Amino acid sequence: MPAEIFAGIGAFKSAFDIARALKDMDDTAKRNAAIIDLQQLILEAQSAQQDTIKRSEELEGRVKELESWEVERERYIRFQPGPGIFTYADKEESNGEEHSFPQLCPSCFHSRHKSFLNTETWNPGRCEVLVCRDCGWQAYVHGSAEPEHQKLAPKPYRGK
Ligand SMILES: [Zn+2]
Repeated sequence: MPAEIFAGIGAFKSAFDIARALKDMDDTAKRNAAIIDLQQLILEAQSAQQDTIKRSEELEGRVKELESWEVERERYIRFQPGPGIFTYADKEESNGEEHSFPQLCPSCFHSRHKSFLNTETWNPGRCEVLVCRDCGWQAYVHGSAEPEHQKLAPKPYRGK
């Protein structure tokens, strides 16, 4: 149970105790001080309740976000464009007649983000490289890395 709920319950309990004691108080000054304490506790309890509502709304939003991602990810399967390389592809598109279909970056996919991979030819070597311009993920489908390729490597703007 979140701390603000305990704080809220504690404030209500104290408020009830003070309210119960009020009826037995004859001294006006003590009675007024008790009323001020009571008002303070009621404000604290209201504030704790507001925090609880806000937190609950945040969690509801998060659950909806995760549920919609779970539905979305069902549309994709793991795809192997080359030895030791795995990406994600739309089930329907990758099952069809087309030999070329969009693939999603596996690194971004695991962070619940869809980012399409670019197929680029990097020279020297006429290498075919899959590149994610979002997170900087890259994989050689044909060819192998050359020092000059570092200039061509993507500059990630996400997840760094
Ligand atoms: Zn990526």
